[in-house]
Amino acid sequence: MPEALQMLKQMVGINSYTTNREGVDRLGNFTADCFAPLGFGAEFVPCTNINFGDHVVLTRHGRSGRSIAMISHLDTVFPPEEEARNNFRWQPEGDRIYGPGTVDIKGGTVMMWLVLSALRQSAPEVFEEITWNLLLNSAEEPLSPDFGEVCRSRFDDQTIAALVFEAEGRLGDERLVVVARKGRAAWRVTVSGRGAHAGGKHRQGANAIVQLGKTVERIAALTDYSRDLTFNTGTVSGGTVSNRVPHEAFAEGEFRAFKSEAYQSGKESLLALAGPGEVRSPVDGYVCQVKVEILEERRPWERNPRTEQLYGVWEAAGAELGIDVGRDERGGLSDANLIWDTVPTLDGLGPWGDNDHCSERSADGSKLPEFVEVTSFVPKAVLNVAAILELVNSGAS
Ligand SMILES: [Zn+2]
Repeated sequence: MPEALQMLKQMVGINSYTTNREGVDRLGNFTADCFAPLGFGAEFVPCTNINFGDHVVLTRHGRSGRSIAMISHLDTVFPPEEEARNNFRWQPEGDRIYGPGTVDIKGGTVMMWLVLSALRQSAPEVFEEITWNLLLNSAEEPLSPDFGEVCRSRFDDQTIAALVFEAEGRLGDERLVVVARKGRAAWRVTVSGRGAHAGGKHRQGANAIVQLGKTVERIAALTDYSRDLTFNTGTVSGGTVSNRVPHEAFAEGEFRAFKSEAYQSGKESLLALAGPGEVRSPVDGYVCQVKVEILEERRPWERNPRTEQLYGVWEAAGAELGIDVGRDERGGLSDANLIWDTVPTLDGLGPWGDNDHCSERSADGSKLPEFVEVTSFVPKAVLNVAAILELVNSGAS
């Protein structure tokens, strides 16, 4: 642990906000240096988005063809100015260490190091047999889709598992690992109406904002909690000045679902709102037009048998160690969304912490920034090691 914490401290000290390309690359190099003594070679793969740093692939070839992938990311959501403004930095306090990326996800990367170090020491035959592929996304927070390709190019039919080191969940004493995540699509609605002088030619106009209001209500009505399908309109804009009937209005938002079926039907319902609206000019019937675009999307990571099998291995290892393991289905996305249908995937294998994506601290303690719990590392590392040994020795492929 002392060596692991020293490593984590140095990682947290490197700002790796997604668009701080230089910082992300510096962290990528540092991470490669951390794993080199374990026998890992480094490869830096440029991201298709030139504003982001390089993805990092660290590989240690084993004696057999079987491989295990471990997945983490380099970037955080905190710009350097924000870290400075909120004095948000490495700050141990009791069992907690506050700081940017302590749990999301530099602590997860350090967990990978702990697990591999322990395997080398306590199960050298397994450590030597398996080919280990460590895949670090340079831009996970905006979910750069090209990372999925980087992963897939390293997977083959002998890849036993993809293990994702996002933070552990907790439910009382239960340590939760992630077996499913929602899919998400971002959308934009554009309404084209007809402008007119609001005084002299009001009847000529077809008010785009009024139409948008109706369309946005319809979108809200697509939310179906019984199917875990949610729509959120996040922003609206439109019009120019008060004495014009507005000719254009816009809304942007997202929808999410756990199940592909709900996701797909939600998408179809949304796209079906496109076409002529109902707000029209009484003069000639000129009608507002509604355009619906999907800006980007990530499929849901559904509950599935292969993940369930991996989960069973972790649960059984926990039972032997006296660690209560449970399932977590998360609303937020991770790299697991990009790869789960290619190889068996399990997530949430990192340490426990909380307040990820928060940097503020208030004097009365009502606001606290991201932290990792120091004593969560060792039990989780032991659990991960035991489960990996079971996975390898049971001959899974
Ligand atoms: Zn995050």
